[in-house]
Amino acid sequence: SPSLPSELTRAAYETAVARNPGEPEFHQALHEVLESIEPALAEHPEFGEAGILERLVEPERQVIFRVPWTDDKNRVQVNRGFRVQFNSALGPYKGGLRFHPTVNLSIIKFLGFEQIFKNALTAQGIGGAKGGSDFDPHGKSESEIMRFCQSFMNELYRHLGEHTDVPAGDIGVGAREIGYLFGQYRKVTNRHESGMFTGKGTGWGGAEVRTEATGYGAVFFTEEMLATKGASIDGKTAIVSGSGNVATYAIEKVHQLGGRAITASDSSGYIVDEKGIDLDLLKQIKEVERLRISEYAERRPSAHFVAGGSVWDVPGQIALPSATQNELNLADAKALIANGVEAVAEGANMPCFPDAVHAFQQAGVLFGPGKAANAGGVATSALEMSQNASRQRWSFSDSEDRLHHIMRGVHTAAYEAADKYGRPGDYVVGANTAAFVKVADAMLA
Ligand code: GLU
Repeated sequence: SPSLPSELTRAAYETAVARNPGEPEFHQALHEVLESIEPALAEHPEFGEAGILERLVEPERQVIFRVPWTDDKNRVQVNRGFRVQFNSALGPYKGGLRFHPTVNLSIIKFLGFEQIFKNALTAQGIGGAKGGSDFDPHGKSESEIMRFCQSFMNELYRHLGEHTDVPAGDIGVGAREIGYLFGQYRKVTNRHESGMFTGKGTGWGGAEVRTEATGYGAVFFTEEMLATKGASIDGKTAIVSGSGNVATYAIEKVHQLGGRAITASDSSGYIVDEKGIDLDLLKQIKEVERLRISEYAERRPSAHFVAGGSVWDVPGQIALPSATQNELNLADAKALIANGVEAVAEGANMPCFPDAVHAFQQAGVLFGPGKAANAGGVATSALEMSQNASRQRWSFSDSEDRLHHIMRGVHTAAYEAADKYGRPGDYVVGANTAAFVKVADAMLA
């Protein structure tokens, strides 16, 4: 690859690609990190001498397992389960579980690899992992979901533990699934080990603000980026994709900070509501009734639905891609730039294609990569682990203050590393190098 000029990064990339054929998302995530850490490698020859890169790109452990379950028609269905325990140099493996039909080893590995660096940036002492299944919760009955989760945990439990590996939610895994998964762990191990899962219900060991944390955190990060230019969210219009946990609470925080979020989307299309998204209605449709996003426009006169199309055609000064990987391409970036976007922060993991990221940076748009911008979710998971370990409960406002403080720290770490390595304002270089040096130092030690 021409953008990997040093022998070290090129060798690590080529070895990983040769060893993991047919995993494009994993290759994309590897390339993005390796390309940006060249200045840190030059300053730390000891990392190269110790083969840190070769070690870093190979997961410590990967588990693939069969998940048989019985559907409502009494037929046996089989899905595939994954857990990739990527790196535990900084702490126990930590990262979500994703249930979605697109899940495969490449997706789980890209997410697990990203998680190493994201978790390092939070400074909460957590390693990186990810897991999930190609199971599609959409259209399944309550009892099918429960049987699937129980079967999934019947195998996964042996690889988990509060000091070993601590999962949480991700796409397709919310409070309901976590309840079934945690409940089965409790049964098969005979331990109420609160700290082995995060994102639990607040009535049984869960933390305040965990549900809101990723979305809130992405907006806090955006506010920090804007502040470096003497600007703020107040009075600005935000374009948000997705309608899950991240998007919903990003919208809420934009509104609380005086901005106006006017879009939301799902795989069927997007809605625009010039009056600002009505959060109660959005939650009712997506969380309670579990309907398509078009239903929002049916019930709200100020909104309209666009089938298919790109939400990034809608003008706004802030863009928060919060749906899924590779949802914002170069053409989308150009449309946003033409419409005067000032700041983009990734609420989802790797939602922007690499050429879209470069376009934003070349146009002088503030760009917050997911590893930094969406770190609030996993950071609050670490707060949940702390509370479980000490058998404490912190209030909502105390927890939100801690999240805010952590997000400021993530921003400062990325901002200062970008300066230090000669790329001021480049949060991709900043986040990747700050996190890489931390993890590499720990691996070396
Ligand atoms: N799935 C979230 C992420 O991508 C949260 C992981 C966690 O809380 O462990 O960071």
